[in-house]
Amino acid sequence: MVVSRELIKELLSESDCSHNSVKKSSCDKPKPGSTSGGCAYEGAQISLFPYADTVHLVHGPHTCLGASWETRASMTSFEGENNIQLGYCTNITAQDIIFGGDKKLSEAIEYVISKKSPQAVFVYETCVTAMIGDNIDHICKESWERFGIPVVPIHAPGFAGGKNLGSRLASESILNFLIGTKEPETIHAFGVNLIGDYNVTGDMWQYKSILEKIGIKVISTLSGDGRIDEICQAHRAKLNVIVCAKSLITLCRKMRKRYGIPYVSVSFYGKRDTSSAILSIANALGSKKMIQKAKAVIQEEEEKLDKKLEPYKKILEGKKAILNTGGNKSWSIASALQDIGLNVVATSINKSTEEDIAMAKKYVDIVFKNPTADQPKLIDEHGIHILLAGGRSLYTAIKKKIAFADVNQEKKRSYGAYNGLINLAEDVCAALSNPVFKLVGKKAPWES
Ligand code: SF4
Repeated sequence: MVVSRELIKELLSESDCSHNSVKKSSCDKPKPGSTSGGCAYEGAQISLFPYADTVHLVHGPHTCLGASWETRASMTSFEGENNIQLGYCTNITAQDIIFGGDKKLSEAIEYVISKKSPQAVFVYETCVTAMIGDNIDHICKESWERFGIPVVPIHAPGFAGGKNLGSRLASESILNFLIGTKEPETIHAFGVNLIGDYNVTGDMWQYKSILEKIGIKVISTLSGDGRIDEICQAHRAKLNVIVCAKSLITLCRKMRKRYGIPYVSVSFYGKRDTSSAILSIANALGSKKMIQKAKAVIQEEEEKLDKKLEPYKKILEGKKAILNTGGNKSWSIASALQDIGLNVVATSINKSTEEDIAMAKKYVDIVFKNPTADQPKLIDEHGIHILLAGGRSLYTAIKKKIAFADVNQEKKRSYGAYNGLINLAEDVCAALSNPVFKLVGKKAPWES
C-alpha cells in the first residue's frame, strides 16, 4: 500500500463529512506554527493498539514507540498472551539508517512470531524508516507467506500529518489487508461492527450487553477488545456503527461501497445519547420487533438509572462546570454531564472537527478554542464550581480554587452508557466535596 499524496488528500477531504459539501475544509490539516497534538504514527497505533492478540511492532527508533504506547487504559477480555502489555520495536540506529533496516525488520518479525505466537503482526512505519526507504510491504508480504499469519504494514509515518490522519491511514490497512479475508460459518441477521471505540476503561462493555439483549450481535470491533479473526469477517455485518470517531468515516464509506454495509454514527456518553444510539442502531437494522424491544429495554434502563442518579442530582443542582477535552468529547461528555444534572457553561472545541463544533453548539452555549486564555476568564466570569478536563488543566483549577475531575482518556473509570453515568456522577460529586482544591490554593502559614 502506498501512502500517496492522492490518498492523503482523499482522507483529508472525506466526502461523507458534511462540512466538506459546504466548503472544502481539510479534516485534519496541520496549521503552520501550531502543534498537531500527536503524529500520524501515534494516531495509527492508538487506533489499532487494543488488538491484544496481535504484536504491534514499531519499525523505527525506540523513542517513537514511547510516544503513544499504553497511553490509554484499553481493556481486553483476550485470554491468550496479552500482547499490548509489551512494546515491540526494531530500534533503528544510525548504522541501520546508513545500511537499511530491512534485515532487522525481517528478523524482528520472525522473533516475535516464534516467541509470542500472535494472531497477526502489525508493522508500523515511522518517519525514519519511511525516509530511508525500507521495503516494509515486501518484508511483510514475505513474512505473511512464510509464517501463515497476517503481517500487516501500517503506513502512517509521523510526517504525513496529525493523529486523526494516522487513524484514517491505519483503517486503510485494515480494509485492504484484513477485512473480507475470512468467511463466517453463519451470517447473523443483525450483526454489527463497532468502529472507533477503543474500550478505554471498559466503555464498550457498558453497552455491548444491552445491544445483545435486544438481539444484536457484535461481529467485530475496530478495535476495542478486538480480535483479528473477527475483523477479517467484518464484511458480513449488516451495519457499521461509528462510535464517537469521525476519523473512521472513510473506512465506513468504503465498506458501504465495497460490501453494501450502511453505517450510523452514534455516541454512548450520557442518558439521552445512549438511548438515541440504541434506537438508531435498531432503526437502521430495520426490524419492527427489534425496535419495540429496544424501546422497552431503553425504558427499563432509564428508569433504573434515574433512580440511582437521584441522590447525586440533589448534590449537583445549581453547580456550574467548564469542560475542556476537545475532539468529539466536546459534545459527548457535555451531554453526559448535563444528564447527571450539571450546568455545563462552556466547552472547548480544541481539535474538534466541523461536525463536532456544530454538535457542541447544540449542547452548550459557549464554546472556546484557546483554553489557556479562555478557561481562567470563564471561571471568574461565571462563578464556575468544577473544571472537567485532562490532567494538564489541573493547575488552572488549583489556582482558581475550584474542583477538578479528569475526564480525558487518562480517566480511571468507565463513563460509558447508563452504568458509566453513575461512575461519572460519583466522581464529580467526590471532586466537588474534596477539600483539597481549596486548601492547596491557600498560602502556607509562614507566608501570611
Ligand atoms: S513524528 Fe516521526 S519520529 Fe516523531 S514519534 Fe512520530 S513517527 Fe516517530
